[in-house]
Amino acid sequence: MLPFPRYTARLYYSDNLLYKARSVVSKIGSDYVELNATVAYPEGGGQESDTGTLALPDGNVIRFIHVRKMYGQRANIPGFPDIQLGGIIEHVIHPEDIQYLAALQVDDEVQTNIDTMRRAQLSLSHTASHLLYLGVGKIRPDAIAWTLGCHIRPDGARFDFGVGSRFTPDEVLAIEQIANDFVARGSAVTTRAHPDHIEARYWQCEDNLIPCGGTHIGNTAPIGRISVRRKSMGSGKERLSCQFDNARFDTASFHAGDGATLRGEQGHE
Ligand SMILES: [Zn+2]
Repeated sequence: MLPFPRYTARLYYSDNLLYKARSVVSKIGSDYVELNATVAYPEGGGQESDTGTLALPDGNVIRFIHVRKMYGQRANIPGFPDIQLGGIIEHVIHPEDIQYLAALQVDDEVQTNIDTMRRAQLSLSHTASHLLYLGVGKIRPDAIAWTLGCHIRPDGARFDFGVGSRFTPDEVLAIEQIANDFVARGSAVTTRAHPDHIEARYWQCEDNLIPCGGTHIGNTAPIGRISVRRKSMGSGKERLSCQFDNARFDTASFHAGDGATLRGEQGHE
């Protein structure tokens, strides 16, 4: 199968602290706008999408409430989960703002602006979820082998596991302790691309290297404290969720793009 003929450059990978950038409209749908480049992270890997605004050439500023990846291709990269690469990114417009799309045209320039507090929260929540998962890996590797899904929200994260036996209260405490030890050490968190695929990403903290394409914070310390809770989801299924009541969200580090990506080659792999 041929790759989809259009591509949206993922500016959140070239610089994950970009909150605003200009780009070019490549398609306008009934309730969405596709761009040639975007700073907005689409829903993926369990992480909820960014939200934000598009500033249109006529001066109207419209809200997008969801961001989604479409028409990617299966990657089949050894050692990686089943991910999709390439394709385009659609910004789903708030119902009250759809009327303003009538004046927008393909090839128009727009400015995308994301909600930086939401991104900061999602990045912290996502980073914390990895620490929780590392704790589960140490205490209950059987559950890791049967991970059913995860959901990363601004205010917390959760994993569902298939299990032959429930998590005991002691196990939950031990998992929480391991996660909080990472926080207490203030360890650096880094991300990088696979050498051959810009969109196949790795997350690393200490000596833990995990395939992950989400957004993260650069250090474990701002998470503050992770509290882990367990819930039975019925026979053979358990949920662990985490929250962070002393988190410090950094919105001051975000910065605007320089416009270099506006038109022209977008680093398509
Ligand atoms: Zn991640």
